[in-house]
Amino acid sequence: MTENVRVRFAPSPTGPLHMGGVRTALFNYLFAKKYNGTFVLRIEDTDQTRYVANAEQYIIDSLEWCNIPFDEGPGKNEKFGPYRQSERKELYKKYADQLLETGWAYYAFDTAEELDEHRKEHEANSKNFIYNWHNREKGKLVNSLVLSKEEVEAKINAGEKFVVRFKSPQDEILTMQDEIRGEIKIDTNILDDKILFKSDGMPTYHLANIVDDHLMQISHVIRGEEWLPSMALHVLLYRAFGWDAPKFAHLPLILKPVGKGKLSKRDGDKLGFPVFPLEYTNEQTGDVSRGYKEDGYFADAFVNMLALLGWNPGTEQEIFSLEEL
Ligand code: GLU
Repeated sequence: MTENVRVRFAPSPTGPLHMGGVRTALFNYLFAKKYNGTFVLRIEDTDQTRYVANAEQYIIDSLEWCNIPFDEGPGKNEKFGPYRQSERKELYKKYADQLLETGWAYYAFDTAEELDEHRKEHEANSKNFIYNWHNREKGKLVNSLVLSKEEVEAKINAGEKFVVRFKSPQDEILTMQDEIRGEIKIDTNILDDKILFKSDGMPTYHLANIVDDHLMQISHVIRGEEWLPSMALHVLLYRAFGWDAPKFAHLPLILKPVGKGKLSKRDGDKLGFPVFPLEYTNEQTGDVSRGYKEDGYFADAFVNMLALLGWNPGTEQEIFSLEEL
């Protein structure tokens, strides 16, 4: 690989890091080391409603315990920083404005109640409500594609709440490449026009994430498979900005041993084994969850176990050092 490898781990500080997150960080780290690249830690804290105060420190302490050091991140080699998205707000506004100007985005003024009503109406007819500019709801949804320029300005000046939505292309079969899944095709007509920016001055995850991946020169986006459904929007956003997209690799998730679904932070102690690297105290409830460290596991053993989840080199070897990995 001749290109300059730059990867990132981009957790949202909405709670303690669990083993699935550590695994994503580990794969990014190993990939960077293999190709002599750079491993970036970026804190994606634009959703203030889900922000948990001590989560960032927990993430940093956990990575440190696991011996997964980052090269760039909060407080460390801030080459393309700051690496906390809440400290980069103005930047995202500029890029949202750019998409509005080029016609790749539009203002929408629908209230939560109006959207709820549309959703219910659709459900009553066993239909999915897709908010996109070319669907049959055109004319009913209150946005800058159906209002005049003056009406839009008047609403904004009157302090009406708005969101900026991406204008998904119509009638296109988008072909994308995932390094793990291979070729993926999607009909753009099933895409919602996702929200990129809100009138409170905050971008959504999607806008902030791709703007930062671009500005921070990320070459490979390696993340959990729960983000696969967002890949189309991200690829389209790169196209709208006229930027080259990084390579994407979506890792299969760690699932719960029993029942269905992916492992989550909420599973805490319920599964009979720790899911967190370090002990975690919920500040609101005072509940303490076990950590691998406090349960007496060595960091090397924990990391070795995560590396071998869903992968083996095809030999009998079971114990690997970080260097070997
Ligand atoms: N902030 C997202 C998360 O919490 C990052 C997803 C991504 O890596 O693009 O998982």
